[in-house]
Formats: sequence, C-alpha cells, structure tokens
Amino acid sequence: MGEKTQVGAGARTGDGARADGGAQAGGGARDDTAEVIIRLTNLHKSFGELSVLQGVDLTVERGQVVSIIGPSGSGKSTVLRCVNGLEKIDRGVVEIEGVVVAAVGTPGAKPAPKEQIRAVLAKTGMVFQSFNLFPHMTALQNVIEAPMTVKKIPKARARELGMEKLRRVGLDDKADAFPSRLSGGQKQRVAIARALAMEPDFMLFDEPTSALDPELVGEVLDVIKSLAREHMSMMIVSHEMGFTREVSDRVIFVDNQKIVADNPPERFFNSPEHPRVAAFLDKMLN
Ligand code: ADP
Ligand code: MG
Repeated sequence: MGEKTQVGAGARTGDGARADGGAQAGGGARDDTAEVIIRLTNLHKSFGELSVLQGVDLTVERGQVVSIIGPSGSGKSTVLRCVNGLEKIDRGVVEIEGVVVAAVGTPGAKPAPKEQIRAVLAKTGMVFQSFNLFPHMTALQNVIEAPMTVKKIPKARARELGMEKLRRVGLDDKADAFPSRLSGGQKQRVAIARALAMEPDFMLFDEPTSALDPELVGEVLDVIKSLAREHMSMMIVSHEMGFTREVSDRVIFVDNQKIVADNPPERFFNSPEHPRVAAFLDKMLN
C-alpha cells in the first residue's frame, strides 16, 4: 500500500480552491474555514473474501456537492452505505458533523455515544435507485410516515410539512395519489420529498435516475439541481455525466478499491489525469 491515493484533504487545499466561484449550480465561495460535514478516513470494507474499499479518504464540506463515479461494482454504493451506517466498516473512521459514527482499528479514534450517533445519522437523507415507496400509502402518507413515527410530529403538523415538501418537488397535486398511479419520475420525486421531510443536513443519492425511462430523468435531476442551488450538502452517485459536471463541486472516481481522482468537474472532465478515468469518460461520453 505504498502509493497513497489522492485524498479529499489534498483536493481541498489544491484543486478545491475554486476560481470560478458561482459558476456551478452548487457553487458559492469555499474557503479554508469551511466546515467538513462528512469525513471518511482510511476506510476499508470487504464482503467475505471480496475487498471492496481499501483505504478511502474523502471529505465533503457543508454545502458541497460531491459526485462519485466509477465502473459498476467499484464500491460507489458501499461508500454511501458506510456513510449512513447501512454497512459496518472493517477499518477506518467515519465522521459526520464532527461526530465519530464509526471507528475501527484506528488508535485514538473511538465512536461517539450511541445517542449522539443516532441523532447525527437521523440527519442523513438517502434516495435509492428503486424509490422504495410504500405501495399501500398515498404520496403524502409516504412523506409523513417517518416524521410521525420517528420524530413524533403530530399528524396535522406532519401533513403541513409533507405538503410543503411535495410542493418543493412539484407534486403537491399528487398528494393523494398512490404510487401505482405515479410515473417513475414522480415516484422518485416523492422519495426525495420523503427524505426532505426529515429535514436532513445532507443527502445521499445512489443512482437516483438509473431506473427511469430517459424522458423522466430530467425532472428528477432538476429537483436535485434545485437542492444544490440551495446549498444542500450532497453525495451523488450518477451515470448522468452532463448533470454530474453541472452540479458537482468535486467529482470522485473510484476504481480498484480506491479513489483514483478527486477534482473539480472542469479538470475532471476536460483533462483527466488518470488513464482509467480517461478510458471511462471516453466510454461514457462517446
Ligand atoms: P457499485 O455501487 O459501484 O456498483 P457496490 O458498492 O454496490 O458497487 O458493490 C461493490 C462490490 O461489493 C460488488 O462486487 C458487489 O457485488 C459487492 N457487494 C456489495 N454489497 C454486498 C453484500 N452485501 N454482500 C456481498 N457482496 C456485496
Ligand atoms: Mg451501486
């Protein structure tokens, strides 16, 4: 493990210093005092014999949009799942908003008390490829379920909040529709409203448009872009290269269990340094 992969911290002092401030949807002034909202340090994860991540270092600052791309099976979903506690890590440290939510085999780092971990993980919103809406509940019921059961928000207030979030994704007129009556794009927008209803501090998107017919992709990407404009912190796995380029503050490429590139989008797409990134982009874009 002699070679050290490029890390988020390095990118922050070098690549991260953006000359083009507000040019991107997720843009805005970044500086060295920016607060790190997610920090992964020396993350290792295997499934049995299969080593998936081997020494991943990655930071996301508050308000940043960081995209992860890479070949199928390279561990993109695993990175997101390690962030929000859906996967147990084998080694390394996961910190969210300064709270150590996982620390394994790392002298000096130890997990925070359980209550604190639960509180910080509750501020994570995740959106999956496959919507995962409850089919027997209306759009609004899907959106207010977690606020009512997890946060104990009274029904009347939860409904107000739910309608606000449905309006946010342009679907307040579908509040009473069941998922079977919604298009894929609408279902995914409801899933985003559902995540937003928990008032998350950051959002994780795992291929949010991969299950959609091409003509429905845009409406979902538009919602994510609008979140970027509001400076929602996000990690996004997507194969939509145009979108990734437009919305991201940094683009990360995962391959062979490591981060092999971590650059601002202009640099990532215009002059990829790593041959595997160049080959991947060539395939995706041509
Ligand atoms: P990506 O999202 O980049 O396509 P994943 O993170 O889903 O990749 O998976 C990385 C590798 O780990 C793949 O080879 C996948 O088959 C394997 N994997 C993922 N989850 C599990 C699991 N729960 N059990 C066993 N293998 C898994
Ligand atoms: Mg995946």
